[in-house]
Amino acid sequence: MGSKAKVIVLGGGVGGTFVANKLARHSQQVQVTVVDATGSHHYQPGLLYVPFKQEKPETLRYDERKLLHPEVELICQPVIRIEPDRRRLFFSDGYLEYDYLVIATGCCPAPEEIPGLQEGGHHFYSEPDAIRLRDALETFEGGHIVVGIGGFPYKCPPAPIEFTLLLADWLEQNGLRNKTKITFLSPLPQPFSIPTVNPLVEELFARSGITSECFFNAEAVDPQRRMVSSLEGTEINYDLLILIPPHRGSPVVDASGLGDKGGWIPTDRNTLQAKGHDNIFVIGDATDLPISKSGAAAHFEAPIVVANLLALVSGQSPQTSYDGSVLCLVETGKGTGTILRFNYDRPPNPPKPTRYYRWVKHFMNRFYPLAVLKGWSLTLFLDSLRRVPFQRPPFCGSEEMISLKDRQ
Ligand SMILES: Cc1cc2nc3c(=O)[nH]c(=O)nc-3n(C[C@H](O)[C@H](O)[C@H](O)COP(=O)(O)OP(=O)(O)OC[C@H]3O[C@@H](n4cnc5c(N)ncnc54)[C@H](O)[C@@H]3O)c2cc1C
Repeated sequence: MGSKAKVIVLGGGVGGTFVANKLARHSQQVQVTVVDATGSHHYQPGLLYVPFKQEKPETLRYDERKLLHPEVELICQPVIRIEPDRRRLFFSDGYLEYDYLVIATGCCPAPEEIPGLQEGGHHFYSEPDAIRLRDALETFEGGHIVVGIGGFPYKCPPAPIEFTLLLADWLEQNGLRNKTKITFLSPLPQPFSIPTVNPLVEELFARSGITSECFFNAEAVDPQRRMVSSLEGTEINYDLLILIPPHRGSPVVDASGLGDKGGWIPTDRNTLQAKGHDNIFVIGDATDLPISKSGAAAHFEAPIVVANLLALVSGQSPQTSYDGSVLCLVETGKGTGTILRFNYDRPPNPPKPTRYYRWVKHFMNRFYPLAVLKGWSLTLFLDSLRRVPFQRPPFCGSEEMISLKDRQ
């Protein structure tokens, strides 16, 4: 190995961009290259608002080059295969060698796992699908909207709940609420996957007149009969179906033999190294970790990956441990929001919804890409939220704004 270790970060989404920008501050030790399929960074949390015309899809795309530290090289080309034994990434027309690899390839909805869903249903988990749903809502005149979770895992677990509450508000604002029944489907015994959050979700659904149909594992959709059926034998008619498909890891993970049957990479839950490959780290949605697939998880994982990778570069063993931290700001409808903060050991205990938490969510939506652009991280801001007791939200004034700058 030469004087600098060659690090390739595969994927220029939330996890990859953060890790690359943080590593770039150690340019005397590492030379960092990001390889991304498109070079266009997609800020996915904004997709929640596209169906309601509260966000324009084009505002959610950022030029990855502008987000990256100037010392980070960017290659915009899809990787078709990784060969861990030879430490190589293959493109259709060549390959790159690395000393250390960070896999940040995210995951994708797999509607094909539910026959008929692609033709008969909608979702908002990609730009084209969010636009298609926006168009469907534009012509919707009332009836039965069936919305919910089509299977596990999927990214951002609260998003279907948030969407349903925003949908109820949108229907009301557009004079359609009293002409529309909303049914929420969940494969679980309760609407949401985290039991400690369910009493709040059930209260919010009751307030907004949303009915839950639990133990509904969607098996197939019949677009002609407008019917969704479950493994449990239930059939439900719909006028508009909005079902979040189960997700899979990136195809490159399968092609490289690095994933399990869902395409998730077995990852050490503490060091974030790929199991069996000490010089490969995994971050964000690509892992098989038992935590929410979320940008927030990727954010909290990034410093751990950087510290452990630099330890290896210096000839030491990884010392820093990820505790499973996640922090989600959640829309709860009627102009309010709440916050879920949790880790491997401690489940969330959401505070009463307030306008403040919704404001923080919208602040994050605006500020987060800018923070990445400037090479900052919001770790200190997020940490301040984590430390402050739920019932006393932190004041986010000028001092906190200064402390946003990552001084690590
Ligand atoms: C509707 C919606 C709402 C959400 N809301 C929230 C929220 O409120 N809070 C939150 O924390 N999270 C939220 N998320 C989830 C969050 O966006 C993801 O969890 C996060 O983007 C994961 O980051 P990542 O780096 O793992 O993957 P991504 O950000 O998805 O990035 C993966 C990157 O890898 C690249 N890539 C993949 N395969 C290859 C290949 N073979 N070659 C080259 N490049 C490749 C892709 O082009 C992409 O740029 C939401 C997601 C959705 C869809």
